[in-house]
Amino acid sequence: MPTIKELDKQYVMNTYGRQDLTVERGRGCKLYGDDGKEYIDFGSGIGTLSLGTADEGYIQAITAQLYRTQHVSNYFTCEPVARLAEKICTLSGYDKVFFGNSGAEANEGAIKLARKYSFDKYGEGRSTIITFNSSFHGRTITTLAATGQDVFHNFFFPFTEGFKYSPYNDKDALISNLTDDVCAVMFECIQGEGGVNLMDMEFAAFLEEECKKRDVLLICDEIQTGVGRTGKLFAFENFDIKPDIFTLAKGLCGGMPTGAFVANEKCSSVLTKGQHGSTFGGNPVSCAAGLYVLDKVSNSAFLEEVTAKGEYLMQKLRELGKETILEVRGMGLMVGIKTSLVPSEISAKALEAGLIVLTAGKDVVRLLPPLIISHEEIDEGVAILQELL
Ligand SMILES: *Cc1c(COP(=O)(O)O)cnc(C)c1O
Repeated sequence: MPTIKELDKQYVMNTYGRQDLTVERGRGCKLYGDDGKEYIDFGSGIGTLSLGTADEGYIQAITAQLYRTQHVSNYFTCEPVARLAEKICTLSGYDKVFFGNSGAEANEGAIKLARKYSFDKYGEGRSTIITFNSSFHGRTITTLAATGQDVFHNFFFPFTEGFKYSPYNDKDALISNLTDDVCAVMFECIQGEGGVNLMDMEFAAFLEEECKKRDVLLICDEIQTGVGRTGKLFAFENFDIKPDIFTLAKGLCGGMPTGAFVANEKCSSVLTKGQHGSTFGGNPVSCAAGLYVLDKVSNSAFLEEVTAKGEYLMQKLRELGKETILEVRGMGLMVGIKTSLVPSEISAKALEAGLIVLTAGKDVVRLLPPLIISHEEIDEGVAILQELL
């Protein structure tokens, strides 16, 4: 009899560097392997498990929806879909939402919207989108093209045209890239996959001002940073800017598949009947999950806790005083440890020691614990990292 691991290796395409753990179940911020071993989860399924694993109220919310229906075609109206859209708009002050199923799909939609906004208003020849070096925007052919990292621009030619890359936090380069053919700038307030790189506050203000001046749309990719991760509901609030469009996915529905792009009044009616769609988009079970997550996360006490726990985590890591820790940076519970060691080796060793961590960029260990993590669990995780760094 083959083991589960052997089956997986034989039958699932080997596109992931799977680590040596078969997860059987979880509770809160702990995961359990099929051998019963316990792990502290500083990864949240790559930032999706906002409320940890198997939260009781979360299970009840999605189970109740499952007893009603698991899917409704987008040709019909369905309550949790309308309610989640309302909630996102009310909380953000934005106008309308489109629901898809993943981050890449959300960014694709945002790109379509931006190009059509410009086409409607200015005609052809104004379709270029600026993104930043070290960004990450997804794995489809178009969002790979949008991703500002050369390693992603191989094999799959031809990529979608019309993207150019600007160095992050570089005002002069931005200005020279903002040519007449540009319709939008897509950016992360904190680059997640690229290494937990923060946008300078000053650059954020500059970016907003220069784009508004030229009627160039701002698309903020909040797929990793959104829904409380950085201590505000949306990271752009921390940077005091208002993009025209923002995209959500990972944390929005607490682990149920989703993706969304959200537009302000200026561009919320650009896409009309037949111009965009998704069979599974706005799944009612996912939307019921999203409503539950937003109910828990969208209050100032919860968000202040996220900020406080993030500060606590970063302070503890800095206080370790390790030579192998070159920098600890982040916001809320999105934390990067720049290290002189090899991040993938740290994450493998951490796993052995009972801690799940992520990596980012070339030299960063990335921590994205569930937003509900306790101080004790932070202490436990840091104690393991102390041994490894
Ligand atoms: C994860 C991520 C994506 C892609 O999301 P998928 O759901 O994997 O398609 C896009 N942008 C950012 C910033 C991300 O972190």
